[in-house]
Amino acid sequence: MASNFQKYLKKTCCLSEGGNFLDNRIKNVGVLALQGAFREHINSIKKCGANAVEIKFPDQLKEVEGLIIPGGESTTINKLMNKYDFKLYLDEFYKSGKAVYGTCAGLILIAKKVVDEDFGLGYIDVEVERNSYGRQIDSFEEYITLGFDENKKFKAIFIRAPRIVSTGSGVDILSKIDDNVILAKQNNVLVSTFHPELQEDTRIHEYFLTMIGKA
Ligand code: GLN
Repeated sequence: MASNFQKYLKKTCCLSEGGNFLDNRIKNVGVLALQGAFREHINSIKKCGANAVEIKFPDQLKEVEGLIIPGGESTTINKLMNKYDFKLYLDEFYKSGKAVYGTCAGLILIAKKVVDEDFGLGYIDVEVERNSYGRQIDSFEEYITLGFDENKKFKAIFIRAPRIVSTGSGVDILSKIDDNVILAKQNNVLVSTFHPELQEDTRIHEYFLTMIGKA
């Protein structure tokens, strides 16, 4: 139950629906727009009251304080990243402590290790396996509990999702289904195996916004 003080904060705009404290500065968030579900992330970010920028070229990273790498096809995004020389700039972005959120294919691209693949930028200490839920259930929805807001379930949509097969000790686990980690954070990096941008609830995007500027 929200306290009167929380209700007051929500009314006066410092507390989001998800209960996260928002500072009143408008943040600039980039969404890597090479392939995949980038438009939906742009909409979610705008819904949270932040500025959203489609990132198509590496030098645009200078304009933003956080970056979402969307779901899509990791092999395609990887090829396009190489083609446009993104990785060097992205490494700089990540090393400077700016916040990075990888969803689904985006997670595959920034994981430390990917089973049977040679990509994975190593920004978060997890090992992932692509398309790990198999063909029969290649898409599914599940109501999950978020570690930072347990009051209300969150609808998680999985599409040919990767599975996190192991996590290092420095990784905070924010949600699980059975034994499978599906949402996790390490310092300035957030990852999910599902697509939070494909439905109305913006609590994970709000949480990501609170990670921005903490470096
Ligand atoms: N199966 C895709 C891949 O391996 C990821 C799917 C997604 O991003 N929804 O790249």
